[in-house]
Amino acid sequence: VEASYDQIDRVEDELKSFITLNKEAALAQAKQLDQETNDTNNPLFGIPAGIKDNVLTKGLKTTGASKMLSNFEDPLFDATVVEKLNDAKTVMIGKLNMDEFAMGSSTENSAFSTTHNPWNIDYVPGGSSGGSAAAVAGREVFFSLGSDTGGSIRGPSSYCGVVGMKPTYGLVSRFGVIAFASSLDQVGTITKTVEDNAHVLQAIAGQDPMDQTTVDVEVPNYQDALKDGVKGLKIAVPKEFLAEGVSEEVKQSVLDALKVYEDLGATWEEVTLPHSKYAVAAYYIISSGEASANLARFDGIRYGHRSENATNMIDLFKKSRSEGFGAEVKRRIMFGTLTQSAGYYDDYYHKAQQARRLIKADFDQLFEKYDVVIGPTTPTTAFKIGEQMDDSLTMYANDLLTIPVNLAGVPAISIPSGFSEKTGLPFGLQIIGKHFAEDTVFRTAYAFE
Ligand code: GLN
Repeated sequence: VEASYDQIDRVEDELKSFITLNKEAALAQAKQLDQETNDTNNPLFGIPAGIKDNVLTKGLKTTGASKMLSNFEDPLFDATVVEKLNDAKTVMIGKLNMDEFAMGSSTENSAFSTTHNPWNIDYVPGGSSGGSAAAVAGREVFFSLGSDTGGSIRGPSSYCGVVGMKPTYGLVSRFGVIAFASSLDQVGTITKTVEDNAHVLQAIAGQDPMDQTTVDVEVPNYQDALKDGVKGLKIAVPKEFLAEGVSEEVKQSVLDALKVYEDLGATWEEVTLPHSKYAVAAYYIISSGEASANLARFDGIRYGHRSENATNMIDLFKKSRSEGFGAEVKRRIMFGTLTQSAGYYDDYYHKAQQARRLIKADFDQLFEKYDVVIGPTTPTTAFKIGEQMDDSLTMYANDLLTIPVNLAGVPAISIPSGFSEKTGLPFGLQIIGKHFAEDTVFRTAYAFE
């Protein structure tokens, strides 16, 4: 724990991974753990961790990187995932930076600061869990939790050269996690290695009576699954994942990875995900609609920032929300409110749900024949800070390859797969499995590593 804070002292001025540090409490907890013996061989005993700042931590400020919650100093309870990590005796180092309410792909939408990519600080770390990925890549913590609605764990993990897992929708509790798009949000794990990742997911997975969307499934022992190798594994590679919009060097990195799998005894075939071309459009309609509903609670009365310049109640709603939300969040609320409104619902929201269904069916069909689907995590390596801030559509396209996975609800991991000769920045390889087949996803990732 001391080493974590030493490293934070060395690099945090440049990286800005954290919104809040928990130093005093963490050092006290570490001292306390020093007195105990880890007689159960718990692999997470005393391990320093960081938590994305949209996950509630009792008594420790939780902001969602929004001005709206900048003074939310004292959450009354821990999210279930935090409770589970406390049970596993990990030590919480601090709360990690992110795009405001998890909306973004670069962590430039944080109300507080921009996190920098540890491989080259002129570049973004990805988003929205940019602080979570940068803190692991920058060796400030051993692991972190993030959340992934359309790619927010896998994207930053790819850009920062770390391992990021988005579990099956329903595997991990969201109780105590600030909601963005409730039919898509999932909490997941960011680590240096696949083995570490499996340990952390093991600790947080499983049904939670406080979250009705969690599923009653037996969670397999992921460590046992790792060692099985990939001999005979059947890999599908969608041609849409190696098509226009994906850079040549990224395509080549995937083909190189597939050679490794061939050498290890797996086979691969090119396949198609014919409806994935609708994924980004469907995602922004669905996620913004859900966000506009979820964020309605921030009205200046029950939660968060309250304007001091209001003259009456309606004015108070207006001014509090105008002052409290950043530009990207406002864009989503307005777009989401439009597409959910009576005159537009059938043309937009209903259509998007139909597209979502077809995208899920495409995956279901592939998993009848193949064990995993493999492709890049992101179309390019990390881009420069500031480069895409004025262009929402280019920014949204960064999630082209991660979004279909959230729409289908299946699990996927991003693992480092080499470095660009042009930029020196890491590539990420995405491995997708069928519902609740995290064990197969981990095993495939471990064999490559
Ligand atoms: N970049 C996507 C968005 O802005 C995904 C974000 C996420 O997964 N939280 O909505």
